[in-house]
Formats: sequence, structure tokens, C-alpha cells
Amino acid sequence: MQAFFPVHCALCGAASPDRALCAACDADLPHHALPACPVCALPTPDGQVCGACLRRPPAFGRTLAAFSYGFPIDRLLQAFKYAGNLTLAEALAEPLARLAAAHPKPDLLLPMPLHPARLKERGFNQALEIAKPLSRRLDIPLAADACRRTRDTPSQAGLEWKQRRRNVRGAFACDLDLAGKKVAVLDDVMTTGSTLEELGRVLLKCGAAEVSAWVVARTPKHA
Ligand SMILES: [Zn+2]
Ligand SMILES: [Zn+2]
Repeated sequence: MQAFFPVHCALCGAASPDRALCAACDADLPHHALPACPVCALPTPDGQVCGACLRRPPAFGRTLAAFSYGFPIDRLLQAFKYAGNLTLAEALAEPLARLAAAHPKPDLLLPMPLHPARLKERGFNQALEIAKPLSRRLDIPLAADACRRTRDTPSQAGLEWKQRRRNVRGAFACDLDLAGKKVAVLDDVMTTGSTLEELGRVLLKCGAAEVSAWVVARTPKHA
């Protein structure tokens, strides 16, 4: 396993034999602040389920977020996603793996599917690249092509919550039999959670007993 890990910090280049990011860089990152709602991972004063999740329980029962979306995680994610810096996948997966190791293990890890047109444009699915080292580290089977994105939805940026919900409705198809399975969906960033919600609903329809959302970074407030 050791051979998979870089010996230099992915951010500053300092020697870092055990981790993808050196201790100093890791300490500077915006680790997701607790207390937070266990369902949506937004900050709450007491760590209890927030009012929004109580009123309208999401399809996913838990969200694990390694970071709050902000500097320099935003830059790191952009470098990874748009410049194709795949060596960063390990650095982004590692903190999430540490967090997830403290929670019940799902039966299946499912990366957020990318529409074939986007995949062609980018050359890789960022969620799959982060899911690979996670699956390896935590020993959870990876369902790489189990679900498909059937509609190439416009960018969610700048849309209101309700528009985002409408924008992604019917965007996924999945013909897995997930009867009784606990599934963790992996995505790079969670903003309103509407895309994760839509995929989560599809997975529950496929019989999943439980869906959780695993994200590298969570935007810190309701958008
Ligand atoms: Zn460093
Ligand atoms: Zn919540």
C-alpha cells in the first residue's frame, strides 16, 4: 500500500512519507467544523439534526464532509477537477478516509456519475478518482458504473434551491438491486445537496436500506 502514497506533500512539496499532505499544510486546511447537523453537515449549535432536515428529511441519512468549502480547498479541488491533477486525488481522499473510518462502514461506495458528454470533455470523473483510494483504504467495494447520468443538466451555479431540485430531477438511472444495502455516495463538493438528494432517491428506489453522502468539501451555509 505504501507505494501508492507520495513521499512529498501535494501542496508544498515538503517531505511527507506517510500522508499526501504534510502535517503543516493539513493543519492549515479548513477542516469541517463541528458541531454540525449529522444529516446535512451544516453547522448547528448543538450538533443535533437541524430544523431543515427535521422538516424535510433528505434521502441520505448522514453526510460526512472532510472540509468546509473555502480557501485553499477550493483551489485544490479546482486544480484537481479542471487541470486534471490526478495526484491530488489521494490528498483529497485521505482526510475523508480518516473521517469515514470512525463511522459505520457502508456496503458499497458509489461515485457521483458524470454525464458521458462531461466525461468526454474532462477525461475523467473526479468523484470516481477520489472514490478509488477511499475504496482501497477502507476496503469498501466500489460501484463505478452502477448508475448513469442520463441528462446533461445545466450547471447548478447561480440557481435557487427549488430550481436546483427541478434541474436534476430524473437525471439518474440505476438498475442495481440494492436490497438491504448501505450505500455511500461520494462527491467532491456538496452545495445545496440537491444532486445528492436526487441520486439518493433513486438509490432508495433500488432498495438501498440507507444512503449516506460522503463529500470532500461542504459549503458552510444554506445556499
Ligand atoms: Zn505541505
Ligand atoms: Zn441538517
